[in-house]
Formats: sequence, C-alpha cells, structure tokens
Amino acid sequence: MTRNKEDYIKEIYKLGGAEEQINNKQISEILNVAPASVTEMLGKLQKEELIVYEPYKGSKLTEKGMDAAVTLLRGHRLWEVFLIERLGYTWSEAHDDAEKLEHVAPARLIDRLEEYLGFPDFCPHGNAIPRADGRIQKPNLKSILEMKEGEASVIRRVTEENDLMDYLQELNIHIGSKVTVEKFGALEGPVTIRLDGVQKQLSCKAAGMVFVEM
Ligand SMILES: [Zn+2]
Repeated sequence: MTRNKEDYIKEIYKLGGAEEQINNKQISEILNVAPASVTEMLGKLQKEELIVYEPYKGSKLTEKGMDAAVTLLRGHRLWEVFLIERLGYTWSEAHDDAEKLEHVAPARLIDRLEEYLGFPDFCPHGNAIPRADGRIQKPNLKSILEMKEGEASVIRRVTEENDLMDYLQELNIHIGSKVTVEKFGALEGPVTIRLDGVQKQLSCKAAGMVFVEM
C-alpha cells in the first residue's frame, strides 16, 4: 500500500471508521486535501476492499482495512515509546519520526518491538496502543476546558500536534501530572491551573487539547 493510502486508512480508523461511516468532509478536513481528491482516493480504497464507501453517507473500514489501520497505529505508538523512553526524543521529535517509521516497519518487527518494550498500553502522549488482535483501551476522558473551577484531575492524553506538544513540554506538562483548574480567563483568555503544585497559565486553545480523567 502507498503511504498516502495508509494515511487515509489510519485517519478513517482514528475518526471511528471501525464502527461507523465517516463522511468525506471529515476526511478532507483532517488530511487537508480537496474533496475531489478524497472521493477519488476512497474509490481506490474501495476497489482494494479496504473500505466500504457509500456516496453521501461515508466510508467504513472492512476487516482488511481495520487490520491495516491497527498495524499502522501500533507501529506509530510503539515507535514513540521506544524513541522517547530509550533514545530521549522529545514529544514532537518522536511523533515526526514515528510517522515515517510506521510506514516501513513490517508487522513482525512491530510485534517484537512491543514485546521488547513490555507491552505498553499507551504511547507517551497518552493514546492507547492497540494489541495485535485489535483490542484497544478506551478510557473516558474530558478536556481541561470541560473541567470546573476548583476541580482537580490527572492528565492522561494530549493531542498529537507538534506546536502544542512543544508548548506543553515547555510548561513541563506530563502524562500523569496532577492538574487543578483555578480560573478560566474571561472571553477565552488563558486558564490558570495548578500543575503538580505549581501555578501556571495555559492558553485556552491548548486547554481544549489536553485530556484528563473524568
Ligand atoms: Zn503518540
């Protein structure tokens, strides 16, 4: 499969395409491609029996498509564990290089890597790592923006966007950090939080992309 096709399959899976039909608009937005190109690619993926595509309704992954998506995501997230834990990468560096490695590593290598790393359940950004049979943990999380003033929780996941990850690492935010919301700034201003006991300001946009236990 080409890298481009693999990216489609992976994003459809992440949007929930294992369970429901994902519409073209969602796919074109997340991959940042024109709707016409999306339609063309979905036709190709259907021909290869990776998805079932219904015009005006959307795309759902077939079993074959799901297997491919799971292998890619396992690769991505396991490489991230390896790069960060063993090679000292930053969050965004690991995400970038995992994006390349996921397309070239065969399933056998990914399985060995998983064993070598001790079967981790989550990547360093808090995304669940599917097992080889597709089982995946689905923790119930909400964003910091959905918390109330005075509420405390634990950070469990951050959105994998490089600018955001660099910003969060500079603020010393970790998966597992204890966070209390002290005050939401007026008019979507910065959120004042207490992080592992230290007061910090978090931009409103970032607060919507950091997830905590419910
Ligand atoms: Zn990750």
